[in-house]
Amino acid sequence: MKNTETKAVDCCASPGLISVEQAIEKILSQAVPLDETETVDILDALNRVLAEDLHSSIDVPGYDNSAMDGYAVRSVDCQAEANELPISQRIAAGQVGLPLEPGTAARIFTGAPIPEGADAVVMQELCQQDDDMVVVNTVVKAGSNVRRAGEDIKNGSVVLQAGKRLRAQELGLLASVGLAEFKVRRKLKVAIFFTGDEIIAPGQPLAAGQIYNSNRYTLRGLLQSVGCEIIDLGIVPDTLEATVDVLNEAAASADLVITSGGVSVGEEDYVRIALQQLGELSMWRIAMKPGKPVAFGKVGDTLFMGLPGNPVSVFVTFLLFARGLILKMQGAEDYLAKRVSVIADFDWPKIKRQEYLRVRLLQKDGQMVAQIYPHQGSGVLSSASWANGLVEVAMDSEIKKGDAVSYLAFEGLL
Ligand code: AMP
Ligand code: MG
Repeated sequence: MKNTETKAVDCCASPGLISVEQAIEKILSQAVPLDETETVDILDALNRVLAEDLHSSIDVPGYDNSAMDGYAVRSVDCQAEANELPISQRIAAGQVGLPLEPGTAARIFTGAPIPEGADAVVMQELCQQDDDMVVVNTVVKAGSNVRRAGEDIKNGSVVLQAGKRLRAQELGLLASVGLAEFKVRRKLKVAIFFTGDEIIAPGQPLAAGQIYNSNRYTLRGLLQSVGCEIIDLGIVPDTLEATVDVLNEAAASADLVITSGGVSVGEEDYVRIALQQLGELSMWRIAMKPGKPVAFGKVGDTLFMGLPGNPVSVFVTFLLFARGLILKMQGAEDYLAKRVSVIADFDWPKIKRQEYLRVRLLQKDGQMVAQIYPHQGSGVLSSASWANGLVEVAMDSEIKKGDAVSYLAFEGLL
């Protein structure tokens, strides 16, 4: 049953803010990996998480083959500076040659099987061909330019383990051993809605006081990049009743609900109150900038994450909190964001919150330096588009140009 009554909520209380690290720990501790799986075609497997260890039933390469366009030889026949050999056969990729007669060379092309008896390939640039003869102008070492059968993958070996999130290179790897379908975890169902009487969909004309719902597109793109099924419940007016209704619907249909806006302390912020009515709020305010108000809790078995309304805050808090939660719930082994050390190319004052600055990493004097976007407001979405990552500034720490700072690359997170 829906409960739309307003409980007494002390909206002005200011409990201590928790740190980003504590928030991440708390959120991840609630993430129970899905155990349902489904079989997918390799063409639909990008960004999915593997649910089984996959073995190869072949060697890759499957046979010794040439790494070059050139001549297959017996190395013993090519121990002088110049070695003249008759060309006894021609082997293109896709063909299988005859055993190589001693004292001869086979014209061979990249990927073609090495003929029996040959133990090396000489690249054509080191040879001179004249009709049916070739002069090999180098001393040849056994094994050179030969790709050995099984040198990449051995028949019977594990190619990828369960828990691996499939990127383009994993799809290529699985195709290389002939796998066309396999088991992945089912997609996490994420219901989303957007609060705010001021927001409207792009494509419509703006009336006075309105803004476009940019968060919808940021959030949908982020969710797609982590392989979720999206249940988009659209824009919700700023009333408690509407918020409770949509939250109920969202929680009933999804594994996780993510919202934007309405989690602050304004009189028009109903998301947190609705969550407290229907379920439980386990965490609310985080000592970070942008993005202080992030609500986390549960409605029944469905987890809930209420992101702030400001567009940059949505982007940053998703990357820090929602991404790891989603990846862990989808059974991915590797769900923690990685930081690297870079050099700051700017000064920055200390504040009482951990900050996430939008920066662009550049090569300068042989070092990777971070340049800052001049306007760091939480509504300035251009900063996130301009940037290629975030510099994480710990609470109470000042940055001076030339300092080593912690950097999170968007590339590693999307
Ligand atoms: P709120 O947390 O609801 O007070 O929203 C904070 C700020 O974010 C306000 O300036 C809102 O207008 C803006 N905002 C909220 N939702 C969206 C949205 N979906 N797209 C763009 N801006 C939004
Ligand atoms: Mg609002």
